[in-house]
Amino acid sequence: MALIVHKYGGTSMGSTERIRNVAKRVAKWARAGHQMVVVPSAMSGETNRLLGLAKELAPAKPEEAYSRELDMLAATGEQASSALLAIALQAEGVESVSYAGWQVPIRTNSAYTKARIESIDDKKVRANLASGKVVIVTGFQGMDDLGNITTLGRGGSDTSAVAVAAAMKASECLIYTDVDGVYTTDPRVVPEARRLKTVSFEEMLEMASMGSKVLQIRSVEFAGKYKVPLRVLSSFTPWDIDINEEAASGTLITFEEDEHMEQAIVSGIAFNRDEAKISVLGVPDKPGIAYQILGAVADANIEVDVIIQNISKDGKTDFSFTVHRGEFAKTVDLLRNKVLPSLGAQEVVGDAKICKVSIVGIGMRSHVGVAARMFRVLSEEGINIQMISTSEIKTSVVIDEKYMELAVRALHRAFDLDQQPT
Ligand code: ADP
Ligand code: ASP
Ligand code: MG
Repeated sequence: MALIVHKYGGTSMGSTERIRNVAKRVAKWARAGHQMVVVPSAMSGETNRLLGLAKELAPAKPEEAYSRELDMLAATGEQASSALLAIALQAEGVESVSYAGWQVPIRTNSAYTKARIESIDDKKVRANLASGKVVIVTGFQGMDDLGNITTLGRGGSDTSAVAVAAAMKASECLIYTDVDGVYTTDPRVVPEARRLKTVSFEEMLEMASMGSKVLQIRSVEFAGKYKVPLRVLSSFTPWDIDINEEAASGTLITFEEDEHMEQAIVSGIAFNRDEAKISVLGVPDKPGIAYQILGAVADANIEVDVIIQNISKDGKTDFSFTVHRGEFAKTVDLLRNKVLPSLGAQEVVGDAKICKVSIVGIGMRSHVGVAARMFRVLSEEGINIQMISTSEIKTSVVIDEKYMELAVRALHRAFDLDQQPT
């Protein structure tokens, strides 16, 4: 008998019919003798609907009082889906109980809308499991030290599930979603994308952080830190398929590189439309300038991603970086009003119509010329590269948003990702 955590995403919980299917699947696992903890997302569209209502009443504000209410509001989506799943399980003849994050409790810090899990008290959950119940724990949420409800950022139910699995030392955490695993790139953009049977933890981490939304990045970080066996698989297979077949399906995240396996140089391509580029032009080229610009941005709690500084000409240089698109206007305002006057720079210009495309693969460690090949492919398509950033196992470029799909498809082809590995 094993303790297993299942997570079901929004589409998988999208209607009462789908919830009934989830209940039948979970019941199958419970009847096979497993202790089951299930972490559902809100029904698809519900989180957007709730946040949309808030925006109708008052446009998004960075104030804490507003963010607190967003979390209070958004957390109801998962509370509803969890209760519905418990009711569906009871209707299947399986004893079941659901808990909101604060009831477990899942403790987080107080960073509303992007809180981090600090600890999970599993006493209540264990007692219920011991009495033969399936326990449902809301995804996406927790409670801070003062008892306020917090949420973990969009896509955060993945992180809830992996954190619960880590805290309870579960045998496996299965992330059920609307695709049947992790693909070489988003199969909705490139139909030739191929499912990976396994993907290394490090590659998954880069893919998630570069924009593959199939797993929230923090869930991958948790899995790595606590070595949680993690699998991504489809909730759209018939619920009554053989349990062993189901348990071996999808994509397994692996922690050890298989020495015997020939590694693909590039395993996947990620892309992200959520960023915007800001350039400060005519910056005096002297010590302390990067700090003056980026220090002010960091003090405003704005995260910066790709950064480049050009060589200087006549003692002046240009300094560019990317931020989340939602923080674009705020950053430009900040630089124009607070930083430019004391910096002696000439101008701040911005471009929100950019995207970042990244190739990811452990094989890049041991092969030279991979980035050059990427640049050649893009040049053959006539795509201009605006910024570049690299790490040991990834190369990212910032390009015009309108070329995103073209770039992803061309790279997918050029690195043979649509071919079955031999
Ligand atoms: P859920 O609601 O189950 O959490 P998400 O929409 O958050 O589902 O994540 C699943 C989606 O991630 C897929 O429908 C797919 O479009 C997208 N996706 C992006 N990159 C990849 C990838 N490399 N492999 C699989 N799916 C991906
Ligand atoms: N419901 C939340 C969201 O839409 C969390 C999740 O689905 O993982 O972002
Ligand atoms: Mg998700």
